[in-house]
Amino acid sequence: MYQALYRAFRPETFGDLAGQDHIVRILKNQIATDSVGHAYLFCGTRGTGKTTTARLLAKALNCTSEGERPCGECENCRAIAAGNFIDVVELDAASNNSVDDIRTLREEVNFPPAVGRKKVYIIDEVHMLSTQAFNAFLKTLEEPPKDTVFILCTTDPNKLPATIQSRCIRLDFRRVPENVIRDRFRTICKKLGIEADEDALALLAENADGSVRDGLSLLDLCAGAGGKLTRQDVQSLLGIAGTEVFIRITGQIAAKDTAGALTTFAEVLSEGKEPLQFAKDLMEHFRSLMIIKFTERPEEIINLSPENVERLRSQADALSMDLISRSIRAVSDALADARWSSRPRILIELALIEMCR
Ligand SMILES: [Zn+2]
Repeated sequence: MYQALYRAFRPETFGDLAGQDHIVRILKNQIATDSVGHAYLFCGTRGTGKTTTARLLAKALNCTSEGERPCGECENCRAIAAGNFIDVVELDAASNNSVDDIRTLREEVNFPPAVGRKKVYIIDEVHMLSTQAFNAFLKTLEEPPKDTVFILCTTDPNKLPATIQSRCIRLDFRRVPENVIRDRFRTICKKLGIEADEDALALLAENADGSVRDGLSLLDLCAGAGGKLTRQDVQSLLGIAGTEVFIRITGQIAAKDTAGALTTFAEVLSEGKEPLQFAKDLMEHFRSLMIIKFTERPEEIINLSPENVERLRSQADALSMDLISRSIRAVSDALADARWSSRPRILIELALIEMCR
């Protein structure tokens, strides 16, 4: 059976976890000195490794290896990875958010671990709990049961009552840097026997936007294409418009050619590109122009091949900083408004018309 890459390559040990070194250091130290807390709050945007880290901690607490824990290989580690270790319970608060769910949990925690050293409760999206559920849960946190560890994960810590937050060790997960994601992709491609251009991996990493999970879903899409993976493959598979289109539309904006810019945009959409993705990429193009305008070696800052930098340089030299900054603001406003709009295309067309003025 086919397994999604983000499942197939889920980290088994702390060494495999990408881009959260500050958290790994703290947890490893607590595990080594036997000073693991009874409640943690893992905060961070989606795909940054909160649930993965929670499982790693659960494994470490129940791992039977004499060496570094988790080993990822002992019976307990493997059972936790497979999701069938009785003392590690994962709850999705989005679907188990009632006070009754928490009451059941409170009764359960009174029993000692059945086979492991510690019972671990991983509660995902914990901010979805109802107010009564939070109140019931608070009592558990106030009188923490022996040999039980709670790991609360959330993308939105501000929605949690302060009383809950203050009883947890809070760890903030960061967006994973592009170069870390790219390194991870290179390793995975090698293991899968997929040949991929560095440019292709860089573009994938750029579009992962700091989330390893999102990045792996993108890689999943591209990995099935067969043959050597190039930047162009990634562009067409993900619906990312090529650099030429951005050079053309920027030229039209600079020439105040409103009709031309709108036509180019319409062409891009007719090829099946997403309007929002196009707007994000257009903003990135203007950013590249800005960086190229002010730096000698822009490829150290922006993710473009040296050939593309050269192609952009003459355009960057010809544009005024005023036009670049106006355009970035116009696209950024359109993107912000488009989040709440069912018709993002119109907002982006409006932005293009403003940029051409
Ligand atoms: Zn182990």
